[in-house]
Amino acid sequence: MLAERISLLSGSGTAAAREAVNVAAASGRRIIDLAAGEVIIKPPSSVREGAIAAINAGTNRYTDSIGLPPLRKAIAEKLSVATGMGWDTGDIVITAGAKQGLLDAAFAVLNLGDEVIVIRPCWPTFPSQVLLAGATPVFVDARPPTYIPDIDAIRAAVTPRTKAIIINSPNNPTGAVYDRSILQAIGDLAIDYQLWIVSDECYASFVFTAARHESIVMAHPDVRSRTILVNAFSKELAITGWRLGYFAAPSEIVSAAKKLQSHTTSNANVIAQYAILHHLQVDDGTFEQEMHQRLSQARNTGLLILSGLHDVTIPDAKGSFFFYLDLSRLISALPAGSPVRSNDDIAQLLLEKADVGSVTGSIFGDANGLRLSFGIPPDLMATGLRRVVETLNSLKTKRAAA
Ligand code: PLP
Repeated sequence: MLAERISLLSGSGTAAAREAVNVAAASGRRIIDLAAGEVIIKPPSSVREGAIAAINAGTNRYTDSIGLPPLRKAIAEKLSVATGMGWDTGDIVITAGAKQGLLDAAFAVLNLGDEVIVIRPCWPTFPSQVLLAGATPVFVDARPPTYIPDIDAIRAAVTPRTKAIIINSPNNPTGAVYDRSILQAIGDLAIDYQLWIVSDECYASFVFTAARHESIVMAHPDVRSRTILVNAFSKELAITGWRLGYFAAPSEIVSAAKKLQSHTTSNANVIAQYAILHHLQVDDGTFEQEMHQRLSQARNTGLLILSGLHDVTIPDAKGSFFFYLDLSRLISALPAGSPVRSNDDIAQLLLEKADVGSVTGSIFGDANGLRLSFGIPPDLMATGLRRVVETLNSLKTKRAAA
């Protein structure tokens, strides 16, 4: 008999989408995988060379549970440049990806019965980790087209049990980028109700148009003492499988993470730590610029293709590398008796009929959304999106029937 906590967890919806694509591909079909939650590109040579050098040097030992001090220092410097405020080695914890940083945060601050505000649509790991820590996620819906949460709705969700709020800007899946005014309002609210803020900023380098990523600690410096700022190299350097992330937080959280990680993973992979250290020592920003340029072009191409959709508004796609379609108008236009009735059905149809993998918004707690990645090679993305447009436009709607 399994522990009850396991029954609290949904499977990873994004992993399920990946599996469905893999199963279809294994049967010989050439699937275009717009479900991918990572940029499909080779990592920078500096990272690869750093890893090879560490292996050739025979690097093999445990590190401090919160990471190599020179790496923590290099990250503190990187963050100081990015935020324009000072960070020290002692503020930084190296983790096995952003996921471990988020779990550390949950385990460090949550008690049984606490509540945590989670903005929905949300990456499913947020509520799952809150549940694992014995607390309860309380959802606040952010609505299309902007998917920026309403501060009054957040305030209405606060109860005496609320301990923390999780924010994620730039956002997976919606692509929303929170501006200074909403960050300041969330900061004020966190101060009013003495909440922890967990700010997942792992898509910080993926912002397009005139939008600008601003960390909540920049928008509202007074919240720094109550903020756990989580980030990772996973997406930024295209090393999702290497498992290297970090967070910056007040000293009590750093100390808690030191204990937690010493009893869970011991330390993040040492080769990955040295690889990133090398990268940070020699990096001149070229890789990030090139990746940004590629994604920016892919985004423009993608938006142009998506403008051909009949019953779906083109998404803002300001940040992250996802087009998040709001299918509500299309779904409500489907006639009674239509075999396709929901976003789940549409994702299924795309896989079965158009050989395109996508992620239904249901896994993000949204019955109307559909996530498509523009992080895959641009030609494939364009072909995949054309198939999406064709398939969605071919659905029989009440309008078409009239
Ligand atoms: N946070 C968000 C919002 C994500 O979308 C993801 C991955 O998809 C992660 C964290 C996980 O990052 P990592 O691979 O560094 O653990």
